[in-house]
Amino acid sequence: MPRAIRSAAALVAGGLAPPEALAALEQVAARYAVSLTPDLAGLIDRSDPRDPIARQFVPDPAELEAGSGELADPIGDDANSPCEGIVHRYPDRVLLKLTHVCAVYCRFCFRRAMVGPGRRPALGRAKLDAAIAYIRDHPEIWEVILTGGDPLILSARRLSEVMRALERIDHVRIVRVHTRVPIAAPALITPALVRALKSSGKAVYVVLHANHARELTPAARKACARLVDAGIPMLSQSVLLRGVNDDAGTLAELLRTLVECRIKPYYLHHGDLAPGTSHLRTTLARGQELARALHGRLSGLCQPAYVLDIPGGHGKSPVGPSYISAVPAASGASYVIEDFNGGRHIYPPPCSGK
Ligand code: SF4
Repeated sequence: MPRAIRSAAALVAGGLAPPEALAALEQVAARYAVSLTPDLAGLIDRSDPRDPIARQFVPDPAELEAGSGELADPIGDDANSPCEGIVHRYPDRVLLKLTHVCAVYCRFCFRRAMVGPGRRPALGRAKLDAAIAYIRDHPEIWEVILTGGDPLILSARRLSEVMRALERIDHVRIVRVHTRVPIAAPALITPALVRALKSSGKAVYVVLHANHARELTPAARKACARLVDAGIPMLSQSVLLRGVNDDAGTLAELLRTLVECRIKPYYLHHGDLAPGTSHLRTTLARGQELARALHGRLSGLCQPAYVLDIPGGHGKSPVGPSYISAVPAASGASYVIEDFNGGRHIYPPPCSGK
């Protein structure tokens, strides 16, 4: 791992926080892990108090305030965990959490109470074997999602061991990897790591977490190209964040940049009710307004699904605006469909009489 900034004192020394904030930031850092890699620290404009990269990674004293409805485990990982390392929320897929360490710690992370050095341990040999046995014993599991923490901070050898274990389970057809590493520490995407990802012979997808176009630096683009050129399709997930990407122009630039890097935007997440993150969350109404502003104005390739993880572990649901409404049966029509300019059209169209 490249040498990262990991403490309040290092943030102040690096000009990323004012000295008068030191005491408050030490309290934040004692509660939630801090790490900012040189690649991301170097992107921050220190003269801009609203820099969107700093807002995502530099701790804020506002994190000490608990917002209404916030939960330590907002999407119910623990309630859906049949054994350590596994979250089985949906019938045909599981999460396999190999580590709780990341290259960077996002200030809005929904697993912020679980991730970081000294929080939960990585899956050791016996627990990994038990997790693999669980997957083997459940033939309905079609897809395994490696997440964490960030699985791509693991060594190529460790990843290869996991991929080979999955290779031996016939009913697992897809391995999906959720990561921030190509952005946070692009040098870690080595040819050996790419080979490790491909070593199972399964279809592997890498889902990149990116929230602002500036994160796609030349080095990050090259890291992603190493994956895509090796035949690994990439998707993205972004979190809608106040003061980072909650305007249509910023989101459009992010989504287009991702597609230009051959990464298909997959999810735009509404911010989860993670503790101390209310200053970063938008409203659902604002999210719908933004999704509506992008619909039709950006290529379909650039459109992610706007989704909310229902608190308590009930899974994701799409929460984007609706373009369809029913009309009274007595009118003889069935639906009204709205187009991207706000025009309303009856479907099926009325008979022309010819
Ligand atoms: S990289 Fe992912 S798991 Fe790690 S802190 Fe960021 S959002 Fe959380």
